[in-house]
Amino acid sequence: MTDWRTELKTALSGQNHVAIHHPMDAAAQSMFPAVVPSSQIAMIDWADANDPLALQFLPSTKEKDVHPDGLADPVGDMNASQQHGIIHKYHGRVLLIASGSCAVNCRYCFRRHFDYQSQYAPRHQWRGAIKYIAKDPSIHEVILSGGDPLTLSTDKLKTLTDQLQALPHVKTLRIHSRIPSVLPERIDEPLLDWLTTTPLNKVMVLHTNHKRELSDTATAAIEQLRGAGLTLLNQSVLLKGVNDSVDTLADLSHALFDRGVLPYYLHQFDRVQNAGHFEVPLQQAQKIHHQLQQKLPGYLVPKLALEVPGESSKTWVNG
Ligand code: SF4
Repeated sequence: MTDWRTELKTALSGQNHVAIHHPMDAAAQSMFPAVVPSSQIAMIDWADANDPLALQFLPSTKEKDVHPDGLADPVGDMNASQQHGIIHKYHGRVLLIASGSCAVNCRYCFRRHFDYQSQYAPRHQWRGAIKYIAKDPSIHEVILSGGDPLTLSTDKLKTLTDQLQALPHVKTLRIHSRIPSVLPERIDEPLLDWLTTTPLNKVMVLHTNHKRELSDTATAAIEQLRGAGLTLLNQSVLLKGVNDSVDTLADLSHALFDRGVLPYYLHQFDRVQNAGHFEVPLQQAQKIHHQLQQKLPGYLVPKLALEVPGESSKTWVNG
């Protein structure tokens, strides 16, 4: 298996030649470059114009469309930003933008216009972030987000969590990552050792939108994460053309549960500019969600959630 660092570097540099298979729109590409690991390129069914992986990962000419409701920061991250790396929106937990990179650039990403350069917490700025968390004893959970926090080296992650676990009020480490499905090589022994030995409660929220993303290697990586004692949840984004059908979502819930992962959130699309073609109208989303409830046991039905800037929690808009 190729080393994950090489895979990531190649994906970030675009040298794995997405363009060989796919006519790249220069404007879309310059707004938000295509970053796709080789394993994901290999999983695309090029004969299917509606392949769910291609729709999520390959730039489209539709990204040039400007939507009247589109925003650069649809969830109000900038207003909730406290200092480098910390976003504090909700009681008891803070989000730490630990990395400005992802292993894949999802075309619908609500942070596709996010200014990571000024907002993420590179290693030398963790001191400020740790200070912020230390001062507020109500913070019991730190959420590593990004970007994708697992693009950081295990040594860096360990340095960070060593400081977090020294704070008596911090009990839980939550990691939001798309990497177990898109770059499963990253779930290697050093990472698993670090996760196994950290004394914090550990939650990982995977980001999977379609059953096709759960390859055999992804399944093996998820199994190892379970073995390291993590609680595994999944969040999806409801995306037009990708997973806006009851059967697709039900198949995903079953496939996740087969792998020991519980569906957590189904996010209504955040109206980020240049990705409006992915939006499923709320009424339709609620109808799909209602049908999903009729098809699945409650524990396999993710909450349909909407993020309203300024609200003190996510808004559940279940059908
Ligand atoms: S992995 Fe997450 S943060 Fe990165 S581009 Fe995809 S949705 Fe956005």
